[in-house]
Amino acid sequence: MAKTVQVAVSNTTYHFDKLYSYLVMPDQEALVRCGSMVLVPFGKASKPRMGIVLGCDEVPVNAKLKAVFDVAPDTAALTPDLMRLVLFLRERTFCTYYEAVKAVIPYGALYKPALAEDGVTPVLQKQLTRHTENQYRLVGTLPQKPKPTAKQLAAVALLGGGPRLLNDLEEKGISKDVLDRLCAKDVLVCEKVNKTVDLYSHIPYTGAEVHLTPAQQDAYDALAPHLADNRPHGALLYGVTGSGKTLVFVKLIQQCLALGRKALVLVPEIGLTPQMITRLKSAFGDRVAVQHSALNHTERFLQWQMIQSGGADIVVGTRSAVFAPLKDIGLIIIDEEQEHTYRSESAPRFSAHEVARQRAAENGSLLLLASATPSTETYYAATQNKYQLVKLTQRYGGNPLPSVELVDMRAEMAAGNPGDISRTLESSLRQTLANGQQAILLLNRRGYQTVTVCEDCGQVLKCEKCSVPMVYHKARGELLCHYCGSTIRPVPKICPSCGGKLNYTGFGTQKAEEELAKLFPEARILRMDQDSTSTKDAHERLLAQFGRHEYDIMLGTQMVAKGLDFENVTLVGVLGIDSLLFAQGFRAYENVFSLVTQVVGRGGRAGTPGHAIIQTVAPEDPVLNLAARQDYDAFFEQEIVFRKLSLYPPFCRLCMVGFSGTKEPDVAFAAARFAALLGQLAAQNGKLPLRVLGPTPCTIAKINEKYRYQLTVKCRGDKAFRDLMRQVLAAYEKEKLPQKASVILDMHSDGDL
Ligand code: ADP
Ligand code: ZN
Repeated sequence: MAKTVQVAVSNTTYHFDKLYSYLVMPDQEALVRCGSMVLVPFGKASKPRMGIVLGCDEVPVNAKLKAVFDVAPDTAALTPDLMRLVLFLRERTFCTYYEAVKAVIPYGALYKPALAEDGVTPVLQKQLTRHTENQYRLVGTLPQKPKPTAKQLAAVALLGGGPRLLNDLEEKGISKDVLDRLCAKDVLVCEKVNKTVDLYSHIPYTGAEVHLTPAQQDAYDALAPHLADNRPHGALLYGVTGSGKTLVFVKLIQQCLALGRKALVLVPEIGLTPQMITRLKSAFGDRVAVQHSALNHTERFLQWQMIQSGGADIVVGTRSAVFAPLKDIGLIIIDEEQEHTYRSESAPRFSAHEVARQRAAENGSLLLLASATPSTETYYAATQNKYQLVKLTQRYGGNPLPSVELVDMRAEMAAGNPGDISRTLESSLRQTLANGQQAILLLNRRGYQTVTVCEDCGQVLKCEKCSVPMVYHKARGELLCHYCGSTIRPVPKICPSCGGKLNYTGFGTQKAEEELAKLFPEARILRMDQDSTSTKDAHERLLAQFGRHEYDIMLGTQMVAKGLDFENVTLVGVLGIDSLLFAQGFRAYENVFSLVTQVVGRGGRAGTPGHAIIQTVAPEDPVLNLAARQDYDAFFEQEIVFRKLSLYPPFCRLCMVGFSGTKEPDVAFAAARFAALLGQLAAQNGKLPLRVLGPTPCTIAKINEKYRYQLTVKCRGDKAFRDLMRQVLAAYEKEKLPQKASVILDMHSDGDL
């Protein structure tokens, strides 16, 4: 008998993604176990590939089995928790095992194939090797001859207060050269230290006691008992903007920790993490760890290690933080739960909700979804008692919700104002600035001008690789495709197809910034969009500056619309919402309602009442009007009827099957073939309720030279359905269509319980 293991290997296609058996050599037996990261020979040429051991057993020696090359240290092995999540993801999202592995642990925790010193033996190597940085310490006195330089004196003075990192010293104008020279004189020593784990040590710990209002206390009292009984619970905290949901979170986390359990807090995007981190760090100190994609690999890995080794009680982060290796989770919070960013758009295509639900089930935790505008699925589930519904109907401090005004931009044009900022908004801005208050303006398009049309042939100038208009970026002096990054430089004046004159129209954040600067030359304007926040920590820095009133107007894309809490903001303006009113997809209404309600809710949060102005060409639009009234209940009543009549979630589940490839007829053929196979196999399967729409070209028919088609399958989304789809996928891959296009499956599973 010998030990063999069943290994999931990297880089397989879905069709070949099964467990492969390998022999474990006697010297590795003690090291290789379930969850181990291993290097194995694969394929005819026995090329080394990464793998994860998912099964172990003793079997009679089989001469044909290949042996494991190498195994990573035990600290790199997946814990049983994470292994279960890998299996869960594969079952639910049609990804491969290794895709799931890469989702549940960060890049920095992975190993990679390498060669041993002999140059031939395949071995594993850590993905990240440098976790250390230079720290300098004062150990001697500075000789007075030759006369020390000013920099040397400064370095010694600084280090008199204790050791410091190179980075820190460089920031203070002392170069590595100066330091190395002082080391040579034995004044300093340089030591390698682990890179700092405490990323936010600058946030002071105040530990201030939380005094909840009676309404917040009621919400807390309704939820807190679920932390103690070690059973899974689901609840929705539906609280209007500014009702103090975060304070309820803080109190619940306190209770959770007091019970000796841990808490996981998810926020929808990086822009919102600084604020949540600040609030939690100041309340809970340094046992807060962070996981989000703006951290570099090392930071992320060190934070992850801190969590894994039990050094963190609270984890805050975006979608992927849902995989944080916390043990005994008592509470999982998903803030702004309706946000689409909780769904992953690359494999594995999971939603943080479904993973959170799974973890809550395994840990016996309270899963708390929170929002002022819950997704229709979630709210429906709450009305069906699948989630406990807890409401906060009033703003903190009795502040009223902002008053809202709709401005008709057609009338504005007719009255002789061709600009993009209405006179109403202009005068309100003037008033706000005169009062020393701040404004937030939402314009959901980045760039300068967003459409270029030929005066003669009427064609819109599109990206050559994608079927979307090129966007003019004035500062960069080029046209840019927001999908593939292609550029056109210099900015063309004549139409590439007919030579006619090109007209630049449409209104992006850069142009709005320029117009505002003309109207209000004294105002300090902050533009927040992907272009202005691309550098590290830009979000945090800019938002903090706005918070300190170093800017008067913050203008931005939807990153300014949600979650932010600034007490001095009294005016909110919505500059461009119309394109969303006419957007496609069954969530279009919900998205508009949520975005407008949320951005309006940024105003008047402390004392002075807020006012909001929404510019639109469709002032009679019903969804916009409901959003203007911030009447979620009425919106929900209307939306749920629409969803029921047209059969959309929560009344069914959607599985989107996407096809893409470089030749359109091939893609269309592949999609049709897949649909046919689905039809056949579904018929054999009998009674599965299914409705298949399409295939049709996607709304954006081509991205990065790949044509895109999709099938929409309305289904139950249960195990029987997933099994059917697996059969279809296998049958489809077996056909090896010469015109093969790549296929992706995306289950829209939110709201499923
Ligand atoms: P929401 O997330 O519900 O929009 P927040 O949690 O951001 O609201 O709270 C809105 C504002 O009211 C914040 O500035 C918060 O500090 C303040 N606030 C809410 N509840 C309290 C409380 N009980 N004590 C002190 N300040 C509170
Ligand atoms: Zn493009």
